[in-house]
Amino acid sequence: MDLLAKRTQRLLGSVIDSSTSLVQRQRHDVIRFAVGSPAAEAIPTAIFDELAPKAFTADAFDYAATDGDRQLRAALLELLSRTSEATTGERLTITTGGMQGLDLFGKLFIEHGDLVVIESPTYTNCTATALSYGAELLEVSTDGDGMIIDELEAAVERAGRAPKAIYVIPTFQNPAGTTMSLERRLRLIGLARRWNSMIIDDDPYGMLRFQGQEIPNIRALADADPLVYAVRTFSKIIAPGLRVGWVDTDPEIHQWLINARQSMDTCTNLPNQRLVAAFLSAGYLDDHLQLQRERYRERKIAMQSALAEHFGSRASWTDPDGGFYLWVTLPGVDTQALFPVALTEGVAYIPGPAFSPSGRFPDALRLCFASMPPDRIREGIARLRRAVDQLP
Ligand code: PMP
Repeated sequence: MDLLAKRTQRLLGSVIDSSTSLVQRQRHDVIRFAVGSPAAEAIPTAIFDELAPKAFTADAFDYAATDGDRQLRAALLELLSRTSEATTGERLTITTGGMQGLDLFGKLFIEHGDLVVIESPTYTNCTATALSYGAELLEVSTDGDGMIIDELEAAVERAGRAPKAIYVIPTFQNPAGTTMSLERRLRLIGLARRWNSMIIDDDPYGMLRFQGQEIPNIRALADADPLVYAVRTFSKIIAPGLRVGWVDTDPEIHQWLINARQSMDTCTNLPNQRLVAAFLSAGYLDDHLQLQRERYRERKIAMQSALAEHFGSRASWTDPDGGFYLWVTLPGVDTQALFPVALTEGVAYIPGPAFSPSGRFPDALRLCFASMPPDRIREGIARLRRAVDQLP
């Protein structure tokens, strides 16, 4: 359409979301490992019913403060003060989900042609946002310990210029499920300091650790140099439809976030902020998280043992300490060609190339173990094997 602004040529939409909406449209019984949503039974609807009269008072239908409702900000600061993510009000902005935090970063910081380093594979909804603001992306491979820092250093040297930002999902990465080691976090911070690059630390899953030791977060390790822009969300720990998240960053950036929001959406939906505030203030989150961690651990194990049973040495997969995803590699299998066959068999996943702007990982796929109960997981993996067997 020739009336569209030229910049829309860089507005590509999300490959992840188009695969998941194709899956949602399927009428027959499809076991869904594609969508990165919490289990339906993990959404605390009974508690929402109980809290609604307290949360939805008349003033909850007014405009909210741009950086967030006072009640939610207070409850969130209190919650974070009990974790390694303790922060202060001048650093905190409530956003409409994690995605808005990522989009605001692009709006405020990305100049046309700026270099943004990303993990490969990564969450490409973020890279789509960066591209829409004119970023040039530099993909750096990962392994079981996160981004390979030697490769990062070499890639930036080859590029011949410093990146504006380095985007990482350090904990229970989407899609790989892996966690960046402490040593790599420290080296990343050292390089960002040297290059004067910002670090975008995107962590929607960190509170869903079901095994292993917590690793100190990048903001605490960086200690204000380099600048860290931390993006967080309640989407995976309470419910994605609430669209409530937050950004924790330098107080000077906080003021710019407010300016940007005032010409964008004014504020995040206030009734939803009040519902989250009531959920936190009533003290429901700790038990809720404990339950989800146990649930997801059981589901991860069910998925791994079904993969071992049905694929054995024909496939390999990651072993996350938390979060939602397994990253599976099926050597010699084209997972994009497999996708329609798998849908016909009644199982859905996201093909590997959806997680790389340059279409790497043709023989990999992402499976979300969080949203299906163990018996459905076992059946889904059996279906996946049947689909693979049908490929020429
Ligand atoms: N970052 C990552 C790594 C994610 O996995 C997601 C959700 N899939 C988001 C950001 C976006 O979160 P939200 O749904 O709160 O916008």
